[in-house]
Order: sequence, then structure tokens, then C-alpha cells
Amino acid sequence: MALAETENNKISDNPFLNLNYESALEALGNDYYEEVAAAEFPQHILRWRNDSLLNRLGLNPEDVADEHFITAFGKFEGRKPLLALRYHGYQFGEYNPFLGDGRGFLYGQVRSTDGELYDFGTKGSGKTPYSRGGDGMLTLKGGVREVLAAEALNYMGVRTSRCLSMIETGLSLWRGDEPSPTRSSVMVRMSRSHIRFGTFERLHYIRRPDLAKKLLDRVIELYYRYLVDEEEKYALFYTDLVKRTAELVGQWMAAGFCHAVLNTDNMSITGESFDYGPYAFIPTYQPNFTAAYFDYYGRYCYGHQPSICKWNLETLQESLKAIIEPSDMESGLVSFDEHYHREYRSLMLKKLGFEKIDSPEAIELFNLTIQFLLESKVEYHKFFSEMARTFSSKWRDDPSLIMIDSDVVPVSGSSQLFDDWCILYHKILNSFDIDQINAIAQTLIRYNPKTVILRPVIESIWEPIVREDNWQPFYELLARIQSGE
Ligand code: AMP
Ligand code: MG
Repeated sequence: MALAETENNKISDNPFLNLNYESALEALGNDYYEEVAAAEFPQHILRWRNDSLLNRLGLNPEDVADEHFITAFGKFEGRKPLLALRYHGYQFGEYNPFLGDGRGFLYGQVRSTDGELYDFGTKGSGKTPYSRGGDGMLTLKGGVREVLAAEALNYMGVRTSRCLSMIETGLSLWRGDEPSPTRSSVMVRMSRSHIRFGTFERLHYIRRPDLAKKLLDRVIELYYRYLVDEEEKYALFYTDLVKRTAELVGQWMAAGFCHAVLNTDNMSITGESFDYGPYAFIPTYQPNFTAAYFDYYGRYCYGHQPSICKWNLETLQESLKAIIEPSDMESGLVSFDEHYHREYRSLMLKKLGFEKIDSPEAIELFNLTIQFLLESKVEYHKFFSEMARTFSSKWRDDPSLIMIDSDVVPVSGSSQLFDDWCILYHKILNSFDIDQINAIAQTLIRYNPKTVILRPVIESIWEPIVREDNWQPFYELLARIQSGE
């Protein structure tokens, strides 16, 4: 591996500095970004290194020292330029032309061993020209929460960014939504892209269709490569973005995840999920569950996520109409519902144990399950993990035996809805051969982890950090999340 020269011409042995960075965005010129410098921090304590991502970068975790993380992603030595990306966006339905990377930058773009290009993007790395009144920083709790969300969603099959590292920086921050002063961190996120819907919205707003086209060509080349030679590549790009976004929402809904801030600056042009602020996993199935305390009207509540993402896609059409035929985009958007419902249903059926199911009752089971979850107010995640825990081939013999060993569901005979659900589940189970029962048990276990980061769980690991700087519960929780326990 070639050794990188650092700024002052010293040869570095830091594996992060010797990755093969590509300047895919930088090469487009500074209409899209501003070069910035990182803040200098009084301390650098590595709190999280995501070794499970290193292989994908062609690195062996044993060859990467904590100090390598700190030098690269806490002190930001040896890499230039660092790019604060420009974007606008619709926030809670209102257009905001004053956005952009206000507390982060694009650290670099790296091709992973799977041949795909990934961004390293920072959060909490200091002020930029787009910080407005903000301090450019990320709270430690904000960092902890994003690390946890990304790992949990990843395990649950959501197409998500991940956190590569999180470093405590020794600053005290003041925040209205955390007891303050509160501790600070800088995080590095590995994602498919930091180009947002809002990146294109800005280019439309400043009336630069030439820049939008140049960027869209690059987006297609990098993230929709299979379309490059298609005559209708722009229309196909939009149609695929609709599909990817719709599927992503289906994945969130099945995971019981409420993103909380679905502004268009938080929507990736690759259809990947990222930027986890006030998110929450739902305690019970409640469509109007709202995660952000500042979302007064519940615009981004759990059950609105499909219609909001569809609205975001529809609104994006205005910014792309100079490049993509509006009628093509309109017809592309029509497929949203179908893609969303298919993905959501298929994932819910997996949570019910069925990897593949052709039975005509499958849709009925899906609907009845949702109805039961809604009306019974049983804990959403517990219901499924209890199914996985108590599953038995005996469930084929008699519907009243289904989940009999769990106390989270009504006892047989006490709820018409649950009894109907058991009768249907029993019927479907009997449509499978007995030798497929083990596969159903495995599917239940795979898709329904016992560990779900409901708010009290996050608080329970945060408390020891605050009280006695004890990080052990955080690491144990991450290990459980990553192994699907
Ligand atoms: P978010 O809600 O985290 O997606 O952020 C929305 C916008 O506010 C983005 O442009 C951020 O860069 C910016 N922002 C959020 N927090 C801060 C902060 N502490 N300092 C500067 N900019 C911030
Ligand atoms: Mg954001």
C-alpha cells in the first residue's frame, strides 16, 4: 500500500490516510461546496470504533490502532480539502435557503472492497460558513444515539449509513434539549452519499440547471451506474429513486422506526437512510407516534413517513424539471405506493416467520397483525421477539397453543381479535410442510432481535456514562445489537 504524504510532507503510516480516496465530488468544483478547516479540540477520547466496517475498507482491524482513528477523525491531520457541502431544503414544509453542512464536512470518498463509493462525512467537527447561529458541535449523547440507531437499523435490514468512529472532544456544550453543560463528540459517518434532495433544490433555487445536470450526471455515474448508457437515463434515475425511497420507508415501518426529521435535506439522493437526531423506535404500534419534541403538529410521525417521503419526492420534481421530463417523473412517482407496500408487507411477513410465502392468506395475516398491534397496544417489538422466543411446532396442532408461553398477548378466549389472529396463523402454519417449521423458527429469530433501542434502553446506557463515565453498558448494548441478540 502506498504511504500518504501528510500536509507537512511527513510520510504517514496511518491506514486511514493511505486509503484510495477519490475526488468524485471535489472534481465538480466549488459551486457545490466550500473548503473548510476542522475545529481543534481540547481532548480526543475514542469512544467508538466500528471495526465491522474496516474489512469493507480493505483494512484489518488489528492493523488499525485507536491512535489512527484519533489522528484521522479527531485531529483531522493529513487530509485536505475538507468540503462543507452546500444545500437547501424544505424543513417542516417551508423552504430554507440557509442550510448546508453547518457542523460537518465531507472528509473523503473511498471505494470499498465491494466496488462501491462511500463518503466519510463528519458531524460535530466545527463551524463552517453554513453554521448560522450554531456552534458547529455535536453533543456526546447525540453521537451515542446516532451510533446506536445506525447499528440497530443495519441489523434490521434497513439500508442505512453507519458510524465509523465517535470521539469525545472535551468541550462543554449548551443545549435546550439536554441537561447542560453537556459533553461533546465528533463522529464520522460512512454513507453511500451526502448528496441530498436539498442539494438539487438549492441548484434550482439559484437558477443553475447547468450545475444540476452536471451533478446529476455524476450521481448517476456513481450511484446508478447501470443507467449510464440508457437513453432515458434521467427518467429512469427518478423512477429508481422513487423505488429506493419507497423501499426504505417500508424498511423503517417494519423496523418500527420513526426518523423524526424528514426534511428534504435529510433525504439522500441514493435512497439511503441517514442523519439520526431525535428519532425513536415505537413502543407500541401507533401511527401518530411523534418522536421530535419540536414536531408540534406531528408532521413526521411514524405513520406519516410514507406520505411525507412521497411528498418530498414530488417536491423534488420541481427542481429536476429542467433535466427530467415532468410527465416521466409524474408517472415514476405513481409506483411509490406499490413499492412501499410490497417492501413493507414482505418484511412484516418475515417478522411473522415467513421468508417466502405464496399463501393467499398472507395479505390477510399482514392486515390482521397490524389491526391486532394497533388495537391491543401490545409492545410492538416485544410481540415479535416473544413470537420468536416461544415458537413451537405444537402451534400447528391447535390455535389456542399459539404464544401460550408468553404473557404479552391476551390469553386464549379473552380477545376475539387475537383468537382470530391465532386461527389464521395456525391455518397458514399448516400450509407448510413439517420440515419447513425449523426455517420459520429461524426466520422469526433473525428478523426479531430481542434488543431494541427503545428510549428507556438508551437512557439506561447513558446514565452510567454521565454518572461515572462507565461505557461498558454502551459497548455491551452495541455487541448485542450487532449480533442480533
Ligand atoms: P439537522 O436537523 O441535524 O439535519 O440539521 C439541519 C441544519 O442545521 C443543517 O444545515 C445542519 O448543518 C445545521 N445544524 C444543526 N445543528 C448545528 C450546530 N450545532 N451548529 C451548526 N449547524 C448546525
Ligand atoms: Mg441533517
